[in-house]
Amino acid sequence: MNYASTPLSVTINIDEIRSHFPSLHQKVNGYPLVYFDNGATSQKPDVVIEAVTQFYSQQNSNVHRGVHTLSQKATDLFEEARITVQKFINAKSSNEIIFTKGTTDSINLISSCIAHAPLLWRGEGGEVLISTMEHHSNIVPWQMLCEETGALLKVIPINDQGEIIWEEYLKLLSNKTKIVAITHVSNTLGTINPIKKMIDEAHKKNIPVLIDGAQAVPHMKVNVQDLDADFYCFSAHKMVGPTGIGILYGKEKWLNAMPPYQGGGSMIKSVSFEKTTYNDLPYKFEAGTPHIEGVLGLAKAIEFINGIGIENIQEYEHELLAYATKHLLEIEGLKIIGTAKEKASVISFVIEGIHAFDIGTLLDQMGIAVRTGHHCTQPLHERFNISSTVRASFAFYNTFSEIDRLVDGLKRIKKMI
Ligand code: PLP
Repeated sequence: MNYASTPLSVTINIDEIRSHFPSLHQKVNGYPLVYFDNGATSQKPDVVIEAVTQFYSQQNSNVHRGVHTLSQKATDLFEEARITVQKFINAKSSNEIIFTKGTTDSINLISSCIAHAPLLWRGEGGEVLISTMEHHSNIVPWQMLCEETGALLKVIPINDQGEIIWEEYLKLLSNKTKIVAITHVSNTLGTINPIKKMIDEAHKKNIPVLIDGAQAVPHMKVNVQDLDADFYCFSAHKMVGPTGIGILYGKEKWLNAMPPYQGGGSMIKSVSFEKTTYNDLPYKFEAGTPHIEGVLGLAKAIEFINGIGIENIQEYEHELLAYATKHLLEIEGLKIIGTAKEKASVISFVIEGIHAFDIGTLLDQMGIAVRTGHHCTQPLHERFNISSTVRASFAFYNTFSEIDRLVDGLKRIKKMI
């Protein structure tokens, strides 16, 4: 069934966009694939796939190490990619862009190094402030740091809609707080947190703020200078780029204040058995041979997104979200977990009497890929007294008719069970 009158203000050419994604044009279990697991990872456009292949077929060599032509070509492309990322998030300097393995790695870099930087981590004890809706990647590294340093982990509560309780946040911010680490967009609830306001409040007390931007950067304009974020982390694979590559943005003064994360090649200026001196930013934090083809693929992913326009993406995905929310709620017994006023294109839900796992398995038999489980947010699920949800997360290449297929599929499942 087609529930849609044509959507309001679709500013992107969906057929043209989809033609660039080879993986979207396959059948799964006999049906054309509907891919709604974009929160976990996105599909890749041809330009990204080609960039990776082209690196191995034409430019393959190590970066920063050779005088020969191939190495210089690879190094130039690698450093141009850093500038592409810098411009994409409006960092002041490319020295503030560190290539990591992904969001998890970026957060671990900071949680491992920060307590060794007296400028950032003053005195003993203290508190690390996170929220109830954090991904495990933005919980566990801080727990490990707390164990090591004797700091306490404090958690900002959320309301039933899945929004930060502002007064509680203000109460928890104190002169004991060493750092606030908060997600920009919840991967389960879709909540867009008011991070600019949160950063402002933390800065009034000279507290640095790390933002987990894994679910934000693919879906909305992020301007780290305007936000005044101290650290901002994200992954390429959730924004149509390759896996195994991500970004740590950090203010130069903080990155300079921290010791290196790992030792090895590239992160040094000189090495002797008596003393090693470390390299300047950004290389101080990039030990060893990097994920070169991942970096080149990420640059192409950003160019692809820029070609569509991130504002257009945001608007289109917002329409997908509104359309899906409306029609999913027509299903009796379906409850959406996460109804914040400001939401990105993620819908987690439960259906009375049917286990999330069964829903996911049956949808898969209809060619529809969704996520089931706790989506690496176990404490958040506990907050809502549920063990698992079904999550449909949309990207700019998804369509309204794909949402119709999801809604019809769920109706069939309800009849079957
Ligand atoms: N933070 C959030 C909000 C996420 O959704 C994810 C991945 O799902 C991560 C962190 C971890 O990202 P990665 O696995 O790319 O390191």
